[in-house]
Amino acid sequence: MFSERLERLIPYVPGEQPRDRRYVKLNTNENPYPPSPKVREVLREYSCERFRLYPDPLCGELRRVAARRYSIEPSNVFAGNGSDEVLSFAFFAFFERAMAHANPSYSFYPVYCNFYGIRNVAVPLDDELRISLRALSEAGSVDGVVIANPNSPTGSYIERNDIVAFLSRYPDDRVVILDEAYIGFGGESCVALIRRFPNLLVVQTFSKSSSLAGLRLGLAYGDSKLIGALFRTKDAFNSYPVDDLAQRIGVAAMEDREYEQAICRRIVSTRERTARRLAGVGWTVVPSRANFLFARHPRVAGGEVYRILRERGILVRHFAGCRLSDYVRITIGTDEEMDRFLKEAGREEFC
Ligand code: PMP
Repeated sequence: MFSERLERLIPYVPGEQPRDRRYVKLNTNENPYPPSPKVREVLREYSCERFRLYPDPLCGELRRVAARRYSIEPSNVFAGNGSDEVLSFAFFAFFERAMAHANPSYSFYPVYCNFYGIRNVAVPLDDELRISLRALSEAGSVDGVVIANPNSPTGSYIERNDIVAFLSRYPDDRVVILDEAYIGFGGESCVALIRRFPNLLVVQTFSKSSSLAGLRLGLAYGDSKLIGALFRTKDAFNSYPVDDLAQRIGVAAMEDREYEQAICRRIVSTRERTARRLAGVGWTVVPSRANFLFARHPRVAGGEVYRILRERGILVRHFAGCRLSDYVRITIGTDEEMDRFLKEAGREEFC
C-alpha cells in the first residue's frame, strides 16, 4: 500500500503541544501576548457566508499591504500556509541537486531536502555558535543556500552589512533564502535588499512577532521572477493554501504595526532581563536577537535540565543527539512566566 518514497521520508518532529496538564510553555517560540485587537475585530465582523466561496488564490489584498510596508510591489510578495510551506515551495523551486545551510539551524531544512531528494551540505557554526557566512560561501557545488537570521536554536544574528557583503560575493545565479522568522525581536530586515539582489528571497512569518502561530501564514519577498516560481510551485500543489479568514486577519495584523512592535519590545526587554539573571546564576547564555535564549547549565546536561524543568511544570526545548545537546532553548514568555522559570533554574539542586 505504501510507496518507497514514503518509506524514505524523515519527517520533522515539532515541539510538544501537551494536553495533559498546564505548563509554562517555553518550548515552541510562540508569542505570550495576544494578537492585535484589530484581529479580534476581523473575527467579530466576519460573515460566515464568505466560507461558501473559495478564497482569492492570489492573496491580492494581503500582498498589497505587505508590499506597502517595504515600499515594493505586490509582484514581489508571495503568501503561503505558514512560512514552513513557503520554505518548502522555495526548496522545490530553487534547489535541485544540493544546497547549503548552517548546522545547527532550523531542523526543517534537511527535512525538505530529504523530501525533494536534494543533498544538504550542513556547515558547522563557528566557535561562538555563530553562522559562518564565509564557510557557507565555500560550501562547494550547491544550487543555493538558506540562512536563518536570527538563527534557531541559537538566536545569534548576522548584521545587515555582513549579509550585503555576502550577497555581493555570492554567485548571482544561485538563490539565497534568508529566513527572517525571528527578525522582529531586535534585528533589521533585509527585504529592501531584494531590489539590489534578484537572487535574494526573504521569508517571514506571522507566527512570532504577530502572535499568529495558530493561523498559519507566511510570506516571501523577492524579485518577481522568484515570486513567479513560487506561484508556479503552489499551483502545482494547492491553489488555495491561504484561506479567506487568514488573508483578512493577515491584512489586519500587518496594518497594526505599532501593536506588533510594542509586544516585540516587551519580549526583547524580558529576554535581556532573563539572560542577565540566568548568567548571574552560572548558566552560559548565547547572545540572542530572537524571542528565545539558547543556554547551558554549568553542570547539568541539557536532557536532564529539560526533564527536571518538565517535572516542575516548565517546558523548554531540548535537541537530543546534536552537537549542542548540552543546551536547552527557552522561549521568552511573559515576565511572570520567566520569573517562574528563573526560580527553578536558580535552585540549589540545579546549581
Ligand atoms: N523558520 C524558522 C527558523 C522557524 O523557527 C520556524 C518556526 N518553527 C519557521 C520558519 C516556521 O514558522 P511558521 O511555519 O509557523 O511560519
